[in-house]
Amino acid sequence: MARASSARRTEREDIPVARRTRQPRQRKGDGAVGLLFGLVLICAGSLAAVMLAPSLLSRRQPTQSLEISGFRERPDVDGRLLGHFPYGEADADQLIVFEPGIELNVEAAEALNTMMRSALADGVDLRLLSGFRSLALQESIFFDVASERNQTAEERAQVSAPPGYSEHSTGYAVDLGDGRFPETNLSQSFQDTEAFRWLQDYAARYHFVLSFPEDNKQGVMYEPWHWRYEGNADALRLFEPASRFSRRDS
Ligand SMILES: [Zn+2]
Repeated sequence: MARASSARRTEREDIPVARRTRQPRQRKGDGAVGLLFGLVLICAGSLAAVMLAPSLLSRRQPTQSLEISGFRERPDVDGRLLGHFPYGEADADQLIVFEPGIELNVEAAEALNTMMRSALADGVDLRLLSGFRSLALQESIFFDVASERNQTAEERAQVSAPPGYSEHSTGYAVDLGDGRFPETNLSQSFQDTEAFRWLQDYAARYHFVLSFPEDNKQGVMYEPWHWRYEGNADALRLFEPASRFSRRDS
């Protein structure tokens, strides 16, 4: 309503004073029509927003796989590049600083906080080592480390997700360590820690899932430290393709 009347005022100010003074009578009727028109616009706008919201949300997830320069390998039919599924970047308003330098999805952060406290009550010191990574950060990590270690992009992809293909960019993935055994951080020896054993027993209660178990069908290297949150509808939808692969063969 306010917008409609201020728009009218602006229009009116564009009209020379001599003309303006000639039409004061019609204004009342105009006001009513304008008000009605404004209300119709507001209703139509709200309806459009409700109808468009799902399609806007789904845009966050790339429907087509990305091709990355520096890769000879192309994504396969299900969109995976060397085993890794494509993921978009989390919206900034869905992220929260969990601890200095580490951001996470708001709901994943809440669940992780509860899980860590529960672990501590059992004498297990869970530590968060890594959370959300922007596409830009993943890109610099990926290519910098590859060149540092003299690896091709394909070799690097065996141990790290290429940019655009990391669960970390969703804000739902966490790398966890055992505060008592920091030497096992981001190493397969993490599987021998109390923290890992505790996670195997209890992480599911907090909706955390081991993304890349040993011998996973997805074809990604075993990462006992890397877990993802699947406790809300958005996360379930994002990880639905991967979850078909990440269950252990049984
Ligand atoms: Zn990770």
